[in-house]
Amino acid sequence: MKLSKLASEIAESPTFALNEEARLLRERGEAVINLGIGEPKNKTPIAAVLASAARLTSGEVKYTPPDGMPSMKKAVIRYTEENYDRLVSPENVLITNGAKQSLYNIFYSILNPQDEVIVLAPYWVSYNEMIRMCTGVPVVVTPEDGTFTPRFEEIERAVTSSTRAIIVNSPNNPSGAVYSPELIGKIVGLCESKGIYMICDDIYHKLTFDRVTAVPAYHFTKHDVENSRVIVVNGVAKLYGMTGFRIGWVIAPCDLVRVMTNVLAQTTSCVSPVAQAAAEGALNGLQSVVEALRLHIQNNRDVLLQEMRTFNGIRLIEPAGTFYALPDIRAFSNNSVEVSKFLLKKAMVVTVPGREFGMEGHIRLSFAGSVKDVTEGIARIKWALDSTSPNEIYIGDKKMVRDWL
Ligand code: PMP
Repeated sequence: MKLSKLASEIAESPTFALNEEARLLRERGEAVINLGIGEPKNKTPIAAVLASAARLTSGEVKYTPPDGMPSMKKAVIRYTEENYDRLVSPENVLITNGAKQSLYNIFYSILNPQDEVIVLAPYWVSYNEMIRMCTGVPVVVTPEDGTFTPRFEEIERAVTSSTRAIIVNSPNNPSGAVYSPELIGKIVGLCESKGIYMICDDIYHKLTFDRVTAVPAYHFTKHDVENSRVIVVNGVAKLYGMTGFRIGWVIAPCDLVRVMTNVLAQTTSCVSPVAQAAAEGALNGLQSVVEALRLHIQNNRDVLLQEMRTFNGIRLIEPAGTFYALPDIRAFSNNSVEVSKFLLKKAMVVTVPGREFGMEGHIRLSFAGSVKDVTEGIARIKWALDSTSPNEIYIGDKKMVRDWL
């Protein structure tokens, strides 16, 4: 069968593949713990349920304008004013099928063949594949060993005449790092002086812990949205735990939004009005749901840190945001794919190999689930990796026998 060379070269999404593997094991009755996928376990906020139910019962479920329902855009404009201190017009807003579609459409709309996008490691798995799908070239900047934040000088050095954008994801998936305001400010300055876009993937922007905050890039530019190089991507998946509704959005200069609207209209027509109504309900509803989720996640993070403290050999930089931790497992093995496979087989815990995020020698643990998942998952990982552990344990009624990697 003849297939597109470009499409055939796109890698499978490792988190979805692992999630499927975990689901199949669970279906077979195995007591799998999933520390792989980044998905909070909360129920959909009631305001979102009611708004989407009202839309359904109205029977008005038709195409919407391709750039989004006016009322949904209004909710996003208010959200942007409240959280980013920026007044934007409807022409600066595009509603998309998840933040993923926002990102893909941005790359599709700004890249010509061989144009470069600077990606900061550790990075979210999909950026590089999306950039390649849009005929661009990802240029990865890696931080110094033992840190998760690339140095500004390295980022600056990576800029060439082919660079079109730098993508910044802070709070960061997979490390939980929150970049310093100083670094964000410097990247804004660099993008403005070079005339390249700064794409801010802000999907976790309120999921920060203790007194840390993720300062928006807008704070460092004198320009309004229309004349700025900053593009903001956001959505309801993580902050409201509404992953299945598939709603994201972009805030960008109107020329770019116009091009992206055409791309969206020609590929997916629009976003389902039922899902848009749900997101609108969430954005206009009680915002205490976000804080409740944040507190739950922060507590999970604290539990994880406590469990990790007694884990000899593992080094961990404390996550300051998101629901991910990226421990350094090089004391056990340099091969994160082998370690993740071993942990699934021996301890029935799903983790994601750091190699997928440009950070070999680490594994990503999601603490988005329950406290029980976190404690039990880490206890099992400790058992499997620590050579002083007892040789056998029972997981449910299944005897697990430890052997080395
Ligand atoms: N960006 C990052 C950094 C993410 O982690 C995710 C989801 N895992 C997304 C974007 C995509 O979000 P959505 O589900 O809204 O497409």
